Amino acid sequence: MRIEFLGAAHTVTGSCYLLEAGAHKLLVDCGMFQGSKRIRQLNTDGFRFNPAEIDCLLLTHAHIDHCGLIPKLCREGFKGPVYATKVTCELAHIMLPDSAHIQESDAEIFNRKGARSGDEPIQPLYTIDDAEASLKHFSVVPYENRVRINENVEAVFHDAGHIMGSAIIEVYVTENDETTKLVFSGDLGQPNQPIIKDPTIINGADYLFVESTYGDRLHQIYDKEEALAEIVNDTMERGGNLIIPSFAVGRTQTLLYYFYKLWKAGRIEDVPIILDSPLAIAATRIFIHNTQEFDDEALGLLLEHAQEEKDQEYCYAPSGFPGLETALGVMLTDLYHTGKLSLQEIIEKMTWAPAKVFDLQAGSLAKGMPADITVIDPELCWTVDEKKFYTKGSHSPFIGRELKGKAVMTLVDGNIVMQDGIING
Ligand SMILES: [Zn+2]
Repeated sequence: MRIEFLGAAHTVTGSCYLLEAGAHKLLVDCGMFQGSKRIRQLNTDGFRFNPAEIDCLLLTHAHIDHCGLIPKLCREGFKGPVYATKVTCELAHIMLPDSAHIQESDAEIFNRKGARSGDEPIQPLYTIDDAEASLKHFSVVPYENRVRINENVEAVFHDAGHIMGSAIIEVYVTENDETTKLVFSGDLGQPNQPIIKDPTIINGADYLFVESTYGDRLHQIYDKEEALAEIVNDTMERGGNLIIPSFAVGRTQTLLYYFYKLWKAGRIEDVPIILDSPLAIAATRIFIHNTQEFDDEALGLLLEHAQEEKDQEYCYAPSGFPGLETALGVMLTDLYHTGKLSLQEIIEKMTWAPAKVFDLQAGSLAKGMPADITVIDPELCWTVDEKKFYTKGSHSPFIGRELKGKAVMTLVDGNIVMQDGIING
């Protein structure tokens, strides 16, 4: 057995271990280096192994510094499976194309500037096509199941409590009838994080590989909900808008959850919350659809909410995330289809939803939804060409791309209002 540290060593990004066991070579994580130009250069430098010789990859979680080089790995010859939990696989389906989009636009900007000064054009680190091709390698592994990877290696994924889907991976390597237990922590969450479960306690290991991004400092202990309530109320009292930059996966959903709890307890007012990021919206949807990963508190809130929903007939906070226009849109559309709301009522409920309304031939909704059109996000603007919709927006990974799939749309007074949808092609 041999282990090589190929990333997140002397730096905190680019997580990647190469494990050789018997005749097999496998990777744990294949993350992107993020940070200074010198660090990012490591992404462009070749892999220090031949990707075609790697049998498989075990992925701890969907953050880009752990999975961001998978498209490049696949493009350079990796043919094996990428084992990850269900939610990690789902999140990778939005994270990797998004990352590819950033690579493409960075290269384009660089080349545009470079052309003026006569520089050689560069290729993007990988393209959206590379990212999409790499997603075919993903294979779901359930938590707490001992999975045979090959004749030398078995693995168990445990909840790491870091982001939804994150895992601590136990790897059992057997060589010459002797088994060695390796534990790869991945990024570890703190206990009592909102929404997700606490990290699993692992019993023993022969070798432990711990990520230590914040290993050199102590987390502040304070009442986060109280601090957030104070900031919101203070801003609202002064008539302001609160703008919160936030990581799209994990931190954003944590904030939405806190807002929900504060709103429900009457500690903040009923103010609209605009989530201005296609990636964060897509990630939130994945969170909402994976309630099996909720901790007891989040599940309790959800059940309570479901009961209220029953009592009130409709609600503003599907799955416990209030004030979220996209979620509201989906909810309203559902209510229309189940006949619980009339079009007039939808219009009334949509007073503060920033969905755009288009003049389109009225027929589709009457014939039944969903149609074969998808739009992602009301915050983006669209151009409409018959039944094809194109997005434009500064951050969207889907800029200028034709969107297909199932539409989530509502017909209001002969116009089609699109709130949200799923990228599907
Ligand atoms: Zn992480």
